[in-house]
Formats: sequence, structure tokens, C-alpha cells
Amino acid sequence: MPILRLIATSDLHMHVRPYDYFEDREDESVGLAALAPLITQARTEHACCLLVDNGDFLQGAPLGDVAAQDFAEGARRINPVIAAMNAIGYDAATLGNHEFNYGLDYLDHALGQARFPILSANLKRTDGSAYVPATTMITRSLAGGSDGDAALRIGLIGLLPPQILQWDRSHLDGRVVVEDILAAARREAVALREKGADLVIALCHSGITGGTYREGQENAAGHLGAVPGIDAIIAGHQHLRFPGSREFEDLPGIDNSRGSLHGVPAIMPGSFGAALGLLDLTLARDGDVWSVTRHAATIRRPAPAGERVPRDCPARKAILAATEEDHARTLTQMHAHIGETGTAIDSHFALLGDNSAMALVAKAQREAAQGLVEGMGLSDLPLLSAAAPFKAGGRGGPGYFTRIAPGALTLRDLANLYLYPNTVSVVRVTGAQLREWLERSSGIFRQIDPDGPPDQLLLRHNFPSYHFDVIFGLDYEIDLSAPARHDRDGALVAPRARRITRLVHDGAEIRPEQEFLVATNNYRAGGGGTFFGGAPAPVIAQSTQMVREVVTDYVRARGYVAPRWTRNWRFAPLSHPDGSPVEVIFETGARGEGREPADMPLTPLGPTEQGFLAYRLRLSDVT
Ligand code: MN
Ligand code: MG
Repeated sequence: MPILRLIATSDLHMHVRPYDYFEDREDESVGLAALAPLITQARTEHACCLLVDNGDFLQGAPLGDVAAQDFAEGARRINPVIAAMNAIGYDAATLGNHEFNYGLDYLDHALGQARFPILSANLKRTDGSAYVPATTMITRSLAGGSDGDAALRIGLIGLLPPQILQWDRSHLDGRVVVEDILAAARREAVALREKGADLVIALCHSGITGGTYREGQENAAGHLGAVPGIDAIIAGHQHLRFPGSREFEDLPGIDNSRGSLHGVPAIMPGSFGAALGLLDLTLARDGDVWSVTRHAATIRRPAPAGERVPRDCPARKAILAATEEDHARTLTQMHAHIGETGTAIDSHFALLGDNSAMALVAKAQREAAQGLVEGMGLSDLPLLSAAAPFKAGGRGGPGYFTRIAPGALTLRDLANLYLYPNTVSVVRVTGAQLREWLERSSGIFRQIDPDGPPDQLLLRHNFPSYHFDVIFGLDYEIDLSAPARHDRDGALVAPRARRITRLVHDGAEIRPEQEFLVATNNYRAGGGGTFFGGAPAPVIAQSTQMVREVVTDYVRARGYVAPRWTRNWRFAPLSHPDGSPVEVIFETGARGEGREPADMPLTPLGPTEQGFLAYRLRLSDVT
């Protein structure tokens, strides 16, 4: 029986070279070049292969920031990730949400250099014309049929989350529109069949969730299996691996061991070039009609360090050669000295109130915001600043933390502190909205039952720490005995619950109608994370400057910073019925050892199976 093998990557995020720019060392566990030997090998195992990428390739690792900065300064070199993808010979790719982060001019420049089609079926210009092709048709000759070789026409559809319109509003407003993922897939599947496609494959830059489908929803890949006429699905966006990740256990219609969504073969190949997805479709032909009779979904990863693997293949060499100059430029930039810090900047205990990883960002952001609102007649309103610890473990794993020692600050350190190419925004909110903002952020904590079993876990594993905004300029308390008002995606699920029990500005409890300005970023202001009930926040000023540049300028202007943090929020004390304080389990990265905030009632418990470091935390009046 003939087999079509789909070889898939997703969410490369500019991880092209096996290099960790934050740690400044080779890292053979990430990057397209690290996958190149696996791709070469996979191509030899079956005669008929397609190499596809599922989007979010253009932004992420510092290599991409440097390329974007060069572009902004007028340079028109080939984009390094496109150069790498050309070098290894992708057959097709789809646009992800992060492709829009640096604006459409930058994207257009990159698209123009790709020697393979880059698709998107649910993205259109506002005049209704296509932005990029919705679909493509690839013909492959299949050997092994009962009547010899046959031509197989493979139709591919590209899909992305409609939420790009909020997340990159400043770049996209009035220029593009986005349609619901399932609606576009349904239409294009029919159109491809009419054009003679034997198989239809969805490159869906969207994740897998259960539940009932809501039109326009961000993560739609799971529901795509129920759309007629789709033979295989590449999923992504969640940076997870499917099949196999525990996040996908027990979702209706989703087979997490064989890799299928409502019976349709599917795969999600992780992120950062740390995993490769192989979806083998065994095909049968009845007259002119091809069908998939069975499939195998497997994830392969680069061999761990120390293991001998034949790395040198022509594809790897070609990727490295094509990106050598960009790599060198990136290293030079990352090593540039921009100032000194007198204090450590560390995110290991950021979720317990150590704000050192956010304080510098919040300060620089506030200063930039002050400049933006000058002359707007708003000087009566308090100006606050919101910042989240971007690297704080969770899904990123036990090594995913920011850790900057006192001493020299380089761009590498600031990139490690502020990962995203966000720009500065200022929003005008009421006291009620501020309270809701903090309620949404505090959803990172589980509800703790004082009558429940001992050692309840504090953190919700799946809640990204970039949604844990700390608002500087306020003082507040979080009551963990109350349920979270919002779910992970920001939907209001417990409308009567209140966790923020004390919310003080300038010594007085905040009134619901009181008004404030908050310095934040364009992602949050555009509605990212659904912090404002699904609506975009009332933005009153928007900078074109990136937050990271603002922080860099702030440090450069002073030469020396010492972001001393004061803890501006704490957990409300929680007692068992007998009056003794409740204790919970907190997990952080192993390198957090010795960085514990001095006044925190923490007891170390040792490493966990996943490589985190566990602590017991007493929820007494000092936490
Ligand atoms: Mn991504
Ligand atoms: Mg994405």
C-alpha cells in the first residue's frame, strides 16, 4: 500500500540554529538545523514525502529581532528563517499569528523571498482579495499501486486564529479581515475537491481543545476533524506535542495515543524546532478515489546531548551556511554592554511576589507612557504600569526562567527579560476594570480549600505566566479560597467570585468609578488574553517603540539601575478550621535555589519528577 508521509514543523519562532542566545551556548535540542538530520532521515524512509511548516516562524529568537531591526533601518537582506526553509526545501507553509508582529511591510518582504507557497485561507485584505494564496495543490507520483505509478493531487489549506486582529491591531486595523477557521476550511475543502484534489490537508495554526465550538474561536484544530472532506490536520500554536501530551487526555473525539481528531489523522509537532512531526497516511485507491486506510502519527526529537548522532547532512550545512552572517550579527548585538544592575533580576519567585523581573520593565514602560500622554490634559489621573513575568516555568519547563546576576547588563539580558516584540500602549480604565484585570491575572492560582487535603498545588499548570500581570502603583491582596473568576482563556466562569479582596491606591481603597491610566503593551491593550471582557481596552496612546527598546533606553540613559522591588501584592492569610495556617505546594526552577525571598515562609521539598524544585509555602500573614 502506498504511503504519503507528511513531515511537519510548527512554531519555529526563528529557532533556526542550534543555539540558545539567552544562555549564549550551543543547544542541539532546538532549531531547524538540529532537525535537519531527522528530516533527511525521514525523507529516506518513504518515497513520497511533503515537508510543511505550520506557522509562527518569523518572530521569536533574537535572530529574528535583529533581522527586523535591520529591516526597520532600511536593510533588505534575505530573512534568515526563510533562507533556512528555502535551504532545506519546504513544500508549503501557513501563516501563524506571530507573522504579523513586525508589521505587514516586513512580512511582505519575507514572503517575497520564500521559494515555497505560504498559505492562509481565512485571511483577506479588507477589499476581499487574498493576502496570500488560500490553498495550493501539490502533485506527487505514488509508486506501489496495483496498476503501477499514479499521480496523487494533494490539496493544502492554510488557517490561522482570527484573534490576530486584536493581538496586532496596530499593524492590521483597516488592512485585513479574518474569517472563522472552520468556515474557511469547509469552503476551501470543497473548492479543492472541485479542482481535483485527491486528498485535502489542513495546515492549521491553531490548537486542540474540547468543548462546544464557538464561532471565531482561537483554538479550532480539534473541531476541524468534524469538517467534511479533510483527510489530515497539522495543528500548532499551543507549542505542545500531539499525540501524547497530557493536556489532550480525555477530550471528546480526540485520540491522544493514535493521533486523530474526530477520526482524522492529526499531529502537532511542538515548537522551536525541538520536535518533528511525522504523519504517515496509508492510501488505497478505488477507481479514481483515494482514501486513507490507516495512519501513524509519531514525534521525533533531536538526540539528547552526549548521544552520538550523525549530524552532518547537506541540509544542515546549507541551513547553517545560509544564516551564518545573521547569527554573527545577532551575537555581536546580544553582547553589547548597555549598563549595570546593582541587584539581581530573577523570575523564580515572581509568582509569589518577587517583582524584580517586572519592576524594571514597569518603570521604563511608565516613563515612556508619561511622554506619550503629555499634553493630553490627563495629568490628574494616576499613571500605573502593568508587567508580567514572561519566563516563569510552567509549560516552558523547569529551565524557563529569567535570571540576571548583579553586574553588567547586555542586550542578551534584556531580551531574556522581555521576550516579545510588543510596543508600549496606554489605556484608560476605571477602578472596576482594574479590579477585573487583577482578577483575570490571579487565575494563575488554583483555588485552595482550607478544609481540603494538605499540600494542595498552588499553580495552574496550563496558565501562561505572561497573563500574570502585576500592576505597579497599586497594593492588593489575593484570596486563594475563592474560585478564579475567569478560565485560562479569559472567559468569565465564576461571576460571583472575588479574589482581589483589598485593592489600594495611594493609601485608600479604590472606588469602582475612579479613573486610571495604565502603561501596558499592545498585545494586552488589543485584547490579548481577554482581559477586558472580550473587548479591546480603551487605548488612549500607542507608541511605535518596542517595550524592550524602551527598557534598553532607560538603562542606557542611567548607566546603572538597581530595580529594588517592594512587594505590592500578597496572598490573604488562610487557616484550617483549627486555626493553623494552610500550606500549599509551589514549584519553581532548580536554579531558583538560594534565591528565595528572605521573608517568605518557604520550606524546600526537593526536586519533582518533571525537574522542578518544590517548596511548601505557608499562607500566613507574611505571605
Ligand atoms: Mn507560536
Ligand atoms: Mg501561534
